[in-house]
Amino acid sequence: MDAPLLQQREKLATHLIKQLGHRRMAASFHRTAAEAKDAVLALIPSPARVSRCGSESAGGLGLWAAIAAKPGVTLMDPYAPGLTPADGLEVRRQGLLADVLVTSTNALTLDGRLVNLDGSGNRVAGMLFGPQKVLLLVGMNKVVADLEAAFARVRTIAAPANNIRLAGLGLKNPCIEDGRCHNCRSETRICNAWTIIEGSSVKDRIHVVLVGEDLGY
Ligand code: SF4
Repeated sequence: MDAPLLQQREKLATHLIKQLGHRRMAASFHRTAAEAKDAVLALIPSPARVSRCGSESAGGLGLWAAIAAKPGVTLMDPYAPGLTPADGLEVRRQGLLADVLVTSTNALTLDGRLVNLDGSGNRVAGMLFGPQKVLLLVGMNKVVADLEAAFARVRTIAAPANNIRLAGLGLKNPCIEDGRCHNCRSETRICNAWTIIEGSSVKDRIHVVLVGEDLGY
């Protein structure tokens, strides 16, 4: 990565870590995705049951395989080969009682708010309540000025990109065709539940692992 841009992100991360701390959330900054992956693995205790939620940030790093290989850790993976849709749904339900939830966020505001838009809702539900620890792997490309910019980022980047990523599952949404959100009413719409996390009632239950490199969308 360009050195001045990385320095800018590192300085900005110092501000974000303070803002998240004021909201009773822990955070750390890691210059590279590889270092961030190691940080996530180190934050997972053993033994532990770890819930996998849809996250391109984690998937692209090979994080799920690394978690599954960690001694004493059971990965609750709704995307495991051979699962029926009903099986996958049950894994998601059980994931709400996992020890640790690993996922990302769609946007992080400069004052430390986490903004997400979810399809079935299990990802945001687990972020709010259930798992004792929530680890969020967040590329600095997801940092935005404020809530308005967060909503715009999700609508213009994250949601259409996730639709395109998941198109092979049979989605029939218009954004897959032209890369733009139409605020559709499609039967296969994956944009169903907005959440804004303003803070954590349990101090440091949420840990935001900030990554200097771009990660996910
Ligand atoms: S609301 Fe519809 S068109 Fe917009 S991103 Fe979601 S699925 Fe695509």
